[in-house]
Amino acid sequence: MESKQVDVAIVGGGIIGSSIAYYLAKEKKKVAILEAQQIGRKSTSAAAGMLGAHSEYKEFQHLYPFARSSQLLYKELYEEIKELTNIDFEKKNGGLLKLAYSEKEKQELESILSLASVEWLDCKEVREKVPQLAVDIVGAAYLKEDVHITPLVACNGLSKGAQLYGAEIYEYTRVLRVEKTGIEYLVKTSQGTFIAKNVVIASGVWSNYFFQQLGLSHEIIPVKGECVAAINEGTPLHYSIFHDQFYIVPRNNNELIIGATKKWNDWSEEPTLDGLEEVIQKAKRMVPEIGKMKWKRAWAGLRPQSYDGYPFIGEHPELKGIYFATGHQRNGILLAPATGKMIRDFIIGSPVEKEWLDAFKVDRNMFAYGGGK
Ligand SMILES: Cc1cc2nc3c(=O)[nH]c(=O)nc-3n(C[C@H](O)[C@H](O)[C@H](O)COP(=O)(O)OP(=O)(O)OC[C@H]3O[C@@H](n4cnc5c(N)ncnc54)[C@H](O)[C@@H]3O)c2cc1C
Repeated sequence: MESKQVDVAIVGGGIIGSSIAYYLAKEKKKVAILEAQQIGRKSTSAAAGMLGAHSEYKEFQHLYPFARSSQLLYKELYEEIKELTNIDFEKKNGGLLKLAYSEKEKQELESILSLASVEWLDCKEVREKVPQLAVDIVGAAYLKEDVHITPLVACNGLSKGAQLYGAEIYEYTRVLRVEKTGIEYLVKTSQGTFIAKNVVIASGVWSNYFFQQLGLSHEIIPVKGECVAAINEGTPLHYSIFHDQFYIVPRNNNELIIGATKKWNDWSEEPTLDGLEEVIQKAKRMVPEIGKMKWKRAWAGLRPQSYDGYPFIGEHPELKGIYFATGHQRNGILLAPATGKMIRDFIIGSPVEKEWLDAFKVDRNMFAYGGGK
């Protein structure tokens, strides 16, 4: 293949790379997504799809305005992408119920309960919404705005939307090296070389390779999450149910997504029986009848996490035109629209919120923020 000239080469076609491509292509930038495998099939397809801006409030206070802005952006994106591509993100509107099994756990929810759209439901009220819930709960915080979508469908919608605005998508195209040449970059791939003014590294847990290759010592740690899906043939569930790090998320077709373990620095992408047993036990504690449901499938994915829990969204400290957008750990689906917009603003020269710029910049003091590790 002859070398191809683009404005922006995006390394990785997960939800982060696809969102960046969408926002940039809409601004008429010549964009190429370079994806080693297929669009959205790594961490993105493993996700439950909760847009948990409120759910994560306690651990992510600095991140909350960013997360909330991204959640609000989804409201426009559902319509916009549906009209453009006919792809529906499969948004499910019920919201999320964060359970408390004791008064202490209720108190722990207090910061979330202070948010405008969140309300407390006692055991009777919450069981009116979800009769299948265990009887020993004290109640739940009801997070109406924390709806969920189907991540792979959303990722496909964003990449398809980008394509319709002129972006080119190269699947099975692994980026091998990025090299500076004058004011541009040579992006060497398994399918030939691209010449780009800007390069965005959005390769999830695999971004480590590019930090090193581009002279930085930053690290993304994989946090493995294991999930199982069951078929619910009983009373439909209309809400996501959440306790501690475990959840049950209903998909449109009566599939229940049951997750998820958190295994720090575990690179294996297969679920283990111990991991699946753990998530099933935790789910049964929330909805006892789950044990009787039919098994559908199980999987694992790697959440990309930085040491302070915040993503890297910003320019390389020395190499102008190289950007990183990685490390979104358990909130990458939620944060994809705001990340896409932020990278777009860097590249087209629009202003970026100062607080977000400082919190997510690549050369930050990793101990200053202490986000939700
Ligand atoms: C079990 C689980 C549940 C989750 N639930 C939620 C949730 O409910 N809500 C939420 O907001 N988030 C959730 N997440 C987190 C979310 O899935 C991630 O934060 C998000 O998918 C990260 O997206 P990404 O595009 O950075 O990474 P990925 O989706 O992994 O995409 C990176 C892409 O880069 C490609 N790549 C890698 N190296 C190269 C290379 N050299 N050249 C070209 N391409 C390359 C890969 O093939 C991959 O497709 C969950 C994650 C897991 C594992």
